[in-house]
Amino acid sequence: MSSHMSTTQKAQVFQSNGGPIKLETIPLPVPKADEVLVHLKYTGVCHTDLHAWQGDWPIVTKKPLVGGHEGVGEIVGLGSGVHNYHLGDKVGIKWINGTCGTCTYCMHGGIEQLCPQAELSGYTVNGTFQQYATVQASQATRIPDHVKLAEIAPVMCAGVTVYTALKRTEAKPGQTIAITGAGGGLGSFALQYAKCLGLRVIAIDTGKEKEQACRAAGAEAFVDYMTTKDLIQDVKNHSPDGFGPHGALIVAAAEKPMQQATEYVRSDGVVVCVGLPGHGALIKADVFQTVARMVTIRGSYVGSMLDAQEAVDFFARGLIKCPTQIKKLEDLPSVYDDMKAARITGRIVLDLQK
Ligand SMILES: [Zn+2]
Ligand SMILES: [Zn+2]
Repeated sequence: MSSHMSTTQKAQVFQSNGGPIKLETIPLPVPKADEVLVHLKYTGVCHTDLHAWQGDWPIVTKKPLVGGHEGVGEIVGLGSGVHNYHLGDKVGIKWINGTCGTCTYCMHGGIEQLCPQAELSGYTVNGTFQQYATVQASQATRIPDHVKLAEIAPVMCAGVTVYTALKRTEAKPGQTIAITGAGGGLGSFALQYAKCLGLRVIAIDTGKEKEQACRAAGAEAFVDYMTTKDLIQDVKNHSPDGFGPHGALIVAAAEKPMQQATEYVRSDGVVVCVGLPGHGALIKADVFQTVARMVTIRGSYVGSMLDAQEAVDFFARGLIKCPTQIKKLEDLPSVYDDMKAARITGRIVLDLQK
């Protein structure tokens, strides 16, 4: 760590779930032996951050807490055991901040986000709504120098999440998938990554504006769930052979699209659930049809360190675009107000340098 670095920083801190979020001056975190210290330049704001602050989920958050898990910046400090990074390297901090490295999920490879001892950025450890944050070196994601940091910040959660979920549909290049909520923020990422993976997309959403956005992002067909007379049949009809898409990716946070997907995917199709409807939501599927048609229903949760690196690499090659609105760290409480009122289009990114 360089000696001229300041010892304090700005951070958005809350003491109790749903309580006031205050812009405070706090000490810089100190990296543990296996961690790096990152001077963050930008952070995205994800819906999960709002849920963490409100205390909406059954797992309790650390308190006091600095939220945030879509941070990008430059390494300014190395733990004593870190040898694979240099000062000045650009990295991202995502939801998974660290894992144990020795449990069955960590050893399996590619699913270490399931580690029962995983630390979560902006949830169990302080996150990215501050100017300096720590992350386990193995969970930091390398970002090439030429990439614009403000634009890639949302890839660290939104991008990684849909990219991983697309892989979990197991659809092969040339095959068709349906994406519900395709016109939203996650949906836009999903459409672009699907194109990168060679998948053909039937977009499901509502309204002319969203239809245009989906088609511009590469959707071959659009089904408006508000105006269709028969969503199941419409989606099937848009698959090249009429049997239905090979996979379905549900980013909409609602129960019904998940149930519909179990009906319109083709036999041997895979339904991947990502969106989180309210607490207690259920996926209902006809058991006979699920068995006889060999339908798979599975969840997908963020991504592994490899998934994150791959998602970043597609972005770095100029294949993924993310419309962002840049705001300041001070603006976080008003961003939450806008989120609650569903007034946000595109992804919000906070500039931490101001
Ligand atoms: Zn583990
Ligand atoms: Zn997130």
